[in-house]
Amino acid sequence: MYRCQLCQTVVPAKQRSTKIVLKTRPRTYNQRGEIAREFRGRFPRRGMPRKQPEYDKGGVGSEIVQEAMVCPKCAEKFAAEQQAAAAAVVTSEVSM
Ligand SMILES: [Zn+2]
Repeated sequence: MYRCQLCQTVVPAKQRSTKIVLKTRPRTYNQRGEIAREFRGRFPRRGMPRKQPEYDKGGVGSEIVQEAMVCPKCAEKFAAEQQAAAAAVVTSEVSM
């Protein structure tokens, strides 16, 4: 049992809740770690190479700012709205 965060109605038990993303923001990730260098020479101790932190070259992604737990009805409506918005973007791009 939970309360839908969009229409504020209490949804009875054993009903699926859906999480929808209301807002996202672009996010850039910085580079982490160093590019692994080729190992030269003997291993320092006990014949095991030292573990190097994983290299992550960073990049761009999106981060969720706001999300809501909603009832199936609202989720459906939200999905339809999203599709309509996406379609609108596509058509406006085509007409350009
Ligand atoms: Zn709802």
